[in-house]
Amino acid sequence: MSNTPLSDKEKVRYSRQLMLKEVGFDGQQKLKQAKVLIIGVGGLGCPAALYLVASGIGEITLVDADKVELTNLQRQILYKINHLGQAKTQAAKKSLASLNNEIIINTVNEQLSADNAKSLISNADIILDCSDNFETRYLINRDCVNLQKVLISAAAIATKGQLMAFDNRQQGNGCYQCIFEPSEQQAALNCENSGVVSPLLGVMGSMQATLALNYILGHMHLNQFISFDAMTFGQQKITFSANPDCNICQ
Ligand SMILES: [Zn+2]
Repeated sequence: MSNTPLSDKEKVRYSRQLMLKEVGFDGQQKLKQAKVLIIGVGGLGCPAALYLVASGIGEITLVDADKVELTNLQRQILYKINHLGQAKTQAAKKSLASLNNEIIINTVNEQLSADNAKSLISNADIILDCSDNFETRYLINRDCVNLQKVLISAAAIATKGQLMAFDNRQQGNGCYQCIFEPSEQQAALNCENSGVVSPLLGVMGSMQATLALNYILGHMHLNQFISFDAMTFGQQKITFSANPDCNICQ
């Protein structure tokens, strides 16, 4: 965390945000002090990280155990041909640092697990779930509920995207598992077996970054579920409520 005032260079770099009444100098300082945890540096995590680093989030932590493969390049926009075979976290850090070398970028080249999740989540101000499997999603949700952390979760499969923002700072708002109860059918769906249209990940990951900025700046848009259809451009926004039978948050 940095409490130092913005440098002259930062004032120039972020000038297009500083002129906004929604950001300003106070807001930019809040961004500089914020710590964001990004779990999964794939199709969603790449654009989310790119915009958070560009906009001046002080510290981000990237969690992913995978290596860059050729099939990733269709949508995981931080990776280039020369990154093939490298750890995603390392390749992502190089790309992000070349955009903005004033951001602290931590890398965890491990799968998120019950062993490392609690300490990673408790060290962050806000958590972005950019993972691609339900096991990880449920684990992130459980620990965010227990540790009272704000969670922004997104998913994109085939031509449809979803975005959710959970306010776990108080009990009773509802959690990921209130909406998605574990089932075998859900567990079977992912980009690998269902495919996904490339820019949809950019849309959904950028929306995650936008919600994270809104939260840090104090413009709250939590407890919402947003769906987006890349074919029809139809969007739906609903405010969800807790499932009284949820065994995680109730
Ligand atoms: Zn719940």
